[in-house]
Amino acid sequence: MSRINIAIDGPAGAGKSTVAKSISRIMGIVYLDTGAMYRTVALKALNSGLDTKDAASLTNIAENIDIKIEYKSNEQRIFLDGTDVSEMIRTPEVSIGASNVAVIPAVRIKLVELQRKIAQEMDVVMDGRDIGTFVLPNAKYKFFLIASLDERARRRYDELCAKNTEHPSFEEVRNDIAYRDKNDSSRAFAPLSKAKDAIEIDTTSLSPQEVIELILSKINK
Ligand code: C5P
Repeated sequence: MSRINIAIDGPAGAGKSTVAKSISRIMGIVYLDTGAMYRTVALKALNSGLDTKDAASLTNIAENIDIKIEYKSNEQRIFLDGTDVSEMIRTPEVSIGASNVAVIPAVRIKLVELQRKIAQEMDVVMDGRDIGTFVLPNAKYKFFLIASLDERARRRYDELCAKNTEHPSFEEVRNDIAYRDKNDSSRAFAPLSKAKDAIEIDTTSLSPQEVIELILSKINK
């Protein structure tokens, strides 16, 4: 039986997760947030007092880490060594750490294996940086979302303000995203890039609803 696999890639703040969540609900398929996996590896390293750029330590973590994904009321929950860390992985420190651990091949190999296994077992819409190019190169539907750096920083800043009274400044959020863009695009192994057969959508001046409708119209064509 052939599975429905939808790949949605792009840089931080381009709107991938909002759109992917809605598509999953509308189509009745699973949403897999692959960034959460890299964040979970980073959390483990930070909790152990390790440098998230230290390849030897991170390779060791990747070999021994226990990451599990569960779905509660259609929402993804992620478990690190048996503990639900779905909220803990959403801090700016973990965002930067995730971008650092994502450079290390052993980490990527471990997580990609898990992602491919899930895509074999279930119909999925998966978001990330390398889904269309590396994780699921044969996915039938591939989208690459982009938006200006200022707009992406504004979206992330608004999200952080809504969640916490204490939050980084707009400038800090913008710098973090610029750092991740550079790190994610320049790494040697499975960098952030658009698959040749992906449809690029600039979301800078589109509402989430407009992006969702555009994607659904391409899928239903
Ligand atoms: O998507 P999110 O911002 O949560 O991802 C956190 C980090 O994880 C990204 O900045 C990127 O470095 C890494 N990542 C990746 N490949 C993916 C998903 C995320 O390298 N498929």
